[in-house]
Amino acid sequence: MEHGPIFGAMLQEFDGAARLLSLEPGIWKILTSPKRQIIVACPVQMDNGEIEVFTGYRVQYNITLGPAKGGIRYHPGVNLDEVTALAAWMTWKCAVANIPFGGGKGGVICDPTKMSKREVEALTRRYVAEIIDAIGPEKDVPAPDVNTNDQVMAWVMDTYSMHVGHTTTPVVTGKPVEMGGSLGRREATGRGVMIATREAAKHVGINLKGARVAVQGFGNVGSVSADLLARQGARIVAVTDWKGGVHNESGIDIDKLLAHVQQHRTVDGFSGGDRLAGDKIWSLDVDVLIPAALENQITAKNASDIKARILIEGANGPTTPDAHRLLHERGVFIVPDILANSSGVVTSYFEWVQDRYGYFWTEQEVNERLERKMCEAFDDVLRNALKFKVDMRTAAYIVAINRVATVTRMRGMYA
Ligand code: GLU
Repeated sequence: MEHGPIFGAMLQEFDGAARLLSLEPGIWKILTSPKRQIIVACPVQMDNGEIEVFTGYRVQYNITLGPAKGGIRYHPGVNLDEVTALAAWMTWKCAVANIPFGGGKGGVICDPTKMSKREVEALTRRYVAEIIDAIGPEKDVPAPDVNTNDQVMAWVMDTYSMHVGHTTTPVVTGKPVEMGGSLGRREATGRGVMIATREAAKHVGINLKGARVAVQGFGNVGSVSADLLARQGARIVAVTDWKGGVHNESGIDIDKLLAHVQQHRTVDGFSGGDRLAGDKIWSLDVDVLIPAALENQITAKNASDIKARILIEGANGPTTPDAHRLLHERGVFIVPDILANSSGVVTSYFEWVQDRYGYFWTEQEVNERLERKMCEAFDDVLRNALKFKVDMRTAAYIVAINRVATVTRMRGMYA
């Protein structure tokens, strides 16, 4: 299959682990082929009366373990290569987390920051209508991702429900709590990043209390991770986002930063520290670095600047394979995306279970189950890293490929 650079990066990661497992060529071919790629045109009447046509994608990469699962991203940079790689990463993420889902991802090329709420709603409804035959609680279950949130998920749920003629809560996760969302889902990815950081620090021998942390990205994942890590006693010394950044060696007050972002939509200009240019975050003298924005941020160009001992991938695909190799050789302990940020989809799974059951858990129950799942996954991956003498990313792929390959063999070939 012809592929672009982001899917190419995913393949490089996959191949390293598949080789160690001596994966047979047939299964190798199946697991590196996206099952379905859907491209749709979504016409929307804009507020000025003009009609715009937005391109949307939904990729179901692999559905061997269960329904496709993965977010919907609204961003000007969305393309088929990116969505396919992200759908593949969802497949491995669900398998590492040991939840009964395959991997999917959706995206629409648009800039929601320049659209009104009505325009975003109209786009969401049209996009869902265009992919309606492909999604459903047993088929493919979307969720929030970059620039989408619980309100967008409410529109997804409503549009699907209106089409099928009855309210169908488990068609999408990350919904508002009032309409079938799970307590703890909004904070889940950040909570998992905090747990991964805590476990990594324990393994490397760093005391989390007082550890210096830098976070790139202050959206859902970055902001909750920073907040929860600060509550664990870590010192958040730098945060950057799409516009700029802030640096404060004695620790940034995250509550105040959240209030600033609420008002200005960026961390830039926050008075509780010095201004920091976005690309200066990599070279800071910190213990823990958390990229929590987009893919391809840490490359062969800036990897040598990194001084952190622990890298926790809150984003999907933030480190290129070359950069990963350089950092691993220098002894940086890297917790890969498919493990570090898997708590979002794990709690999505809890939401889907609660919706189908029609019985809802307390926030404490959700968080306890999440803690257990996350620690099990971390231990599984670490055990394989030690057994195969490989880095944590290769080990995570080993766990994931083993699970998906085993079921692929058991199910056999149809026709
Ligand atoms: N978008 C999130 C991710 O990349 C969550 C996906 C989900 O909950 O289905 O993992």
